[in-house]
Amino acid sequence: MQDLLALAARLGRDPLVIQGPGGNISLKRDGVMWVKASGTWMAEAEERPILIPIDVAAVLDGLATDDPACETCEPFVRRDLTDLALRPSIETTLHAVMPQRVVVHVHCVETIATACLSDATERLATPLSGLNWSFVPYVRPGASLGRAMAEHLKAGTDVVVLGKHGLVVAADSVTEAARLRAEVSQRLARTPRTAPGPDRGTLEAAAGDGYAIGDDDCWHAIATDPISLSAAQCGSLYPDHVVFLGPGIVAAEAAERAVAAARRCGRAAVPLVVIPGAGVLVHEAATSGARALIRCLADVTSRLEGDDPISPLSADDEAQLLNWDAEKYRQSLDARPS
Ligand SMILES: [Zn+2]
Repeated sequence: MQDLLALAARLGRDPLVIQGPGGNISLKRDGVMWVKASGTWMAEAEERPILIPIDVAAVLDGLATDDPACETCEPFVRRDLTDLALRPSIETTLHAVMPQRVVVHVHCVETIATACLSDATERLATPLSGLNWSFVPYVRPGASLGRAMAEHLKAGTDVVVLGKHGLVVAADSVTEAARLRAEVSQRLARTPRTAPGPDRGTLEAAAGDGYAIGDDDCWHAIATDPISLSAAQCGSLYPDHVVFLGPGIVAAEAAERAVAAARRCGRAAVPLVVIPGAGVLVHEAATSGARALIRCLADVTSRLEGDDPISPLSADDEAQLLNWDAEKYRQSLDARPS
């Protein structure tokens, strides 16, 4: 268990692997699956309790009988083993359907840069050859993703790429799960482009009303690299983008102020406004989760090429994420002052 928490903390501190409260980890022992609680941060695994015990057999029975309780898995928490007043991860079922003892689910940037393409399965074949892997097309996280995973698992599958979402690896030890995660990320690694720096004069002119120049220099690549900008303008590439930044991006028109651009798009106080060619402006109310997802967008888009067939989430996929109680709960934890 200590090894698991150390791994969670290490992965959680790497923005190319985990962003904000995303991703999760689990360990099965004596019929109990200890899984990350919804809204907690893997980076904090060694500072505060983040794991919640679940009756794993009950989850699997629930999935087999289409029990609606699988949507949150809350009724399956072993409250006799925990004082933690939190819900289990939205992605608990994904951990339950993998038979291995240790499951690690990450929003690995290198994986997402391929998983968000319409020809992801073909592109994964060569780099992942020799591994026992499977690809699951996009399904909203939750019980339906757990079921879709179960349908795609073959005997011994221990690497699952989730379309437009991320990576799952499983093993019978923490060490082996950590090794496999690193190997897959390395096999899928793409070289990020270096972007021109921000145009601070143009950004200052568009700032104000709560919007200020993004304080992490690498964020500006979303606006200053033309390929990154056009990729970001395609739409939402993965679920946590929608949950923490809203659908797609708001891009200002020439000489338009950020606040006006957000209003024109019907989005008051959107965390991120992109000023094409100049850089990004970030709203003062942007949560730490939102800021982590801005970095993620810069990291993913800087790995995409101009001719990559990007396949963003549909408007329906976005609406499902935004009107879902389980995600509203995770957003409310992110908004809480820490
Ligand atoms: Zn996920």
